[in-house]
Amino acid sequence: MTATTFAERLARERRLRLAAERLLEQKSRELFAANAQLAIHARSLSDQIVEQRQAVASALTQAELLKGQNSRVLSDLERAHTAAVMAERRLWDSLETIRDGFAIFDEGRALAAANRAYLGLFKGLDEVRPGIPYRRLLELCAEAGLVDLEGGAPADWVAAMLARWEAETIEPRVLRLSSGRWIKLIDRQARGGDMVSLALDITETIARERELEEARARAEAASRAKSAFLANMSHELRTPMNGVVGMAELLCDSALSEEQRLYAETIKSSGEALLVIINNILEYSKIEAERVMLRPEPMDLERLLHEVAMLLQPRATAKGLALAVDYDLFLPTRFVADPGRLRQVLTNLVGNAVKFTEAGHVLIRVVGIESAAGAAEGTACQLHITVEDTGIGIAPEHLEHIFGEFNQVEDQTNRKFEGTGLGLAITRRLIALMGGEIWVESAPGEGSCFGVRLTLPVAEPVAEIAGAPPGLRRAIVVDDQLLNRTILERQLTAFGLDVTLCRSGAAALKRLAEDPDHQVILANTDAPEMDGLALAAALRAAGHAVPLVLLCANPAAVRALPGAELVAAILPRPLPRRDLYSRLASLCPAPPQPPAAPAQPAERRAMRVLAAEDNRTNQLVFRKMVQDLDIELRFASNGREAVELWDSFRPDMIFMDISMPEMDGRQATRAIRAAEAARGAPRTPVVALTAHAMAGDREEILAAGLDHYLTKPLRKTAIVEHIRRLQPLGTRPPLAEGAESDA
Ligand code: ADP
Repeated sequence: MTATTFAERLARERRLRLAAERLLEQKSRELFAANAQLAIHARSLSDQIVEQRQAVASALTQAELLKGQNSRVLSDLERAHTAAVMAERRLWDSLETIRDGFAIFDEGRALAAANRAYLGLFKGLDEVRPGIPYRRLLELCAEAGLVDLEGGAPADWVAAMLARWEAETIEPRVLRLSSGRWIKLIDRQARGGDMVSLALDITETIARERELEEARARAEAASRAKSAFLANMSHELRTPMNGVVGMAELLCDSALSEEQRLYAETIKSSGEALLVIINNILEYSKIEAERVMLRPEPMDLERLLHEVAMLLQPRATAKGLALAVDYDLFLPTRFVADPGRLRQVLTNLVGNAVKFTEAGHVLIRVVGIESAAGAAEGTACQLHITVEDTGIGIAPEHLEHIFGEFNQVEDQTNRKFEGTGLGLAITRRLIALMGGEIWVESAPGEGSCFGVRLTLPVAEPVAEIAGAPPGLRRAIVVDDQLLNRTILERQLTAFGLDVTLCRSGAAALKRLAEDPDHQVILANTDAPEMDGLALAAALRAAGHAVPLVLLCANPAAVRALPGAELVAAILPRPLPRRDLYSRLASLCPAPPQPPAAPAQPAERRAMRVLAAEDNRTNQLVFRKMVQDLDIELRFASNGREAVELWDSFRPDMIFMDISMPEMDGRQATRAIRAAEAARGAPRTPVVALTAHAMAGDREEILAAGLDHYLTKPLRKTAIVEHIRRLQPLGTRPPLAEGAESDA
């Protein structure tokens, strides 16, 4: 081997190694790049795998979820189905349990479903099952005689029943089945055009109603019988009681020892009290039985109030009470109302006020406003009537009870007052009947105020008073009481008079001396016998010609006193303003008249008086009561006799009992009125005498042609007063001159 060769070989070897190294390096680089590429691929691949894994996992979860939901829906559906089946079963079980029929008709009016009770109504009719048209059902009912058609034709009934379903609101209909049962049909349009029909079995209800109806009829009959019994009883009780009271009154008039007088007066007052109780009970039972009817008619409220006040004036005067009426000057006086009932109500309220007051006053006040309500054909007034007293009052705990039945305030303060405790109960019911209301305000020891609110149609608008009475400009009013003075002053000022108020007669004389320009003096005094007549005498003594008018509680008594002739007029008090006005107008300017010269009694015949009265005792009482009168008296024992005596005896006046056998007082008076009309004879005054001391009867009796009205027990004063007033010209005065009835 050579060196060259060796070197060559070495160089070649080195070259080869270098080339190999370069190749290796390149291949390493390439490998590295490939590795890096691979790594990237591997990462992205693993990323993809992860993603896909997640996707698969979520798909799996989703799938699981869906699987769960699906089974839930399935079970829900199953549950719902079961519930629906159960609900329907329950519904039908319930519908089958009730005894009433239930059916549903579809939109086409064919029976969709019905319970057994409904289908049971058509027993034996196989045709009746779901699917049958309503019309056919009705026709079957009518043709098979299932329903009582009340005499109508089947076709008409079917048509009516079909028409019923077409109405806007379907009214329930009661059917009587031929089986005797009663069915009430209640039908209602349901949603979706269905018609639901209920057939209620009301047989038992009807039976109960019948029973109740019968029971009510029986109760009403019993109540009527009770009322009739009470009415009869009270008549039977009153007739002898009237005898007792009348005789006792006569007894009191005779010469008696003090002890005997006490006994007689006790008999009389007890009898009177008993009569009041009997009347109250009768009246209450009449109201209870709803047999009280109002009879409205045009009437004068102001006058009525004054009549009530006048009636109670003696009682008030005896107790030293001032009794005043304050009637709103701008209020109409004529209204449409039942005067008898209104009088009854007011008499009770004012009577109570007087009864429960020992000192002070009782004031009846009326105010009102016009109201349109309740007056279709004219105006009406809402009236406010109050009766105020300064009496014992009522404790708050008793206030709400006093309008109840048989309720009296029971305590030390009013033990001594008698009464039935029915007055206010009757009053309240009557006022309710009139559409009004009543209330009370009271303070023990201070007084009470009863108020009544009533709306009444106005019968006549308030008539304006046309200025002062002719010849009158200025007046002096003498009154020691503020209440009366104020009311009187207001009335006179409303007439257009200039009024000077004086507290006493002496003050009036002084005033007149200073200024004689007064045309009238009105003295309103509690002691007219002293103050009034003394003032009259003093006026004349002082040379004054000015007329003096006395207003007092009992004019009849004062008129009988010596010195009364000096007074121009003695008027009752309180007086309605229209009466006061006309009395003043008639008074002035004429000077006071001296008393008329006594006529020659010898030339005239005695007055002829006929008394129709069936009861012997009452005849006796009557005869005794008029025994001092110069009259010719005849009795009739019944209405027929009264008519005969009217013809033969030619009485100047007749006292007519109302309840008499054969022909009662009303019939007799009608017969007399007819006979008078037929003959053109003058009207004979007839005064009714009746035990029917009931309000309401009065109007009825006067309507029968009687002119006046007196209730039993008979009062001597009232009888004598009527005879005296009705004395015709050409007869002797029944009462000797100067003798005044003992009022
Ligand atoms: P009576 O017939 O007993 O008077 P009422 O029904 O009229 O019956 O009255 C019932 C009760 O109411 C009376 O007993 C009395 O206690 C009480 N009362 C009625 N009015 C008044 C009044 N003005 N003052 C005080 N108490 C009165």
